[in-house]
Amino acid sequence: MKIKELEFEKFISEDEIKQKVTLLAETIDHDYAAKTPVFLPILNGSFMFSADLLKQVSIPCRVSFVKISSYVGTVSSGQIKTLIGLEESLFNQDIIIVEDIIDTGLTLQKIIEELKSLGTKSVEVISLLRKKPARDKKIPVKYPGFDIGTEFVVGYGLDYDGLGRNLKDIYRTDSEDILNGNPEV
Ligand code: 5GP
Repeated sequence: MKIKELEFEKFISEDEIKQKVTLLAETIDHDYAAKTPVFLPILNGSFMFSADLLKQVSIPCRVSFVKISSYVGTVSSGQIKTLIGLEESLFNQDIIIVEDIIDTGLTLQKIIEELKSLGTKSVEVISLLRKKPARDKKIPVKYPGFDIGTEFVVGYGLDYDGLGRNLKDIYRTDSEDILNGNPEV
């Protein structure tokens, strides 16, 4: 399958994703049986995963979609990333961050710190995909879906240059260009 100039091959099928989502929802139901967590899906990438996941979660819960903004700071620290779109108080709440994919986990670590500083009771992470750098760096992802290597993936919410989010399956490419960070990801 081709998106723009890149060739992608099927990697994880719709059926495999469905099975994994069911399993993850059961685990959350079990772990949060006596709680009412707040799910924080990070847009845009996690819109499809979070919708499917939440349809299968049966404990009482809240959902608040957020985005990560990035801007170049006025001080020397370079890129600063922060959560935007938070509309309710998260004080004393059990938070579950919902991510599509975690690569280096750098952004995620900042977001976890930010959420902890708001006086949350607990902060855990569920991510459909977890790449090798996140495992090597032991980024705290309590609920990982699929562990993958360093390939670039699209589909099921994930895009390549804005395209491919609507695909039901997940596709991969080993294109050197994209892995070297040339296009925006
Ligand atoms: P991190 O801060 O963990 O290095 O970056 C995570 C973000 O990079 C993800 O939320 C996603 O937006 C993007 N990303 C990392 N790997 C991929 C990939 O293989 N495919 C796509 N579409 N985005 C990726």
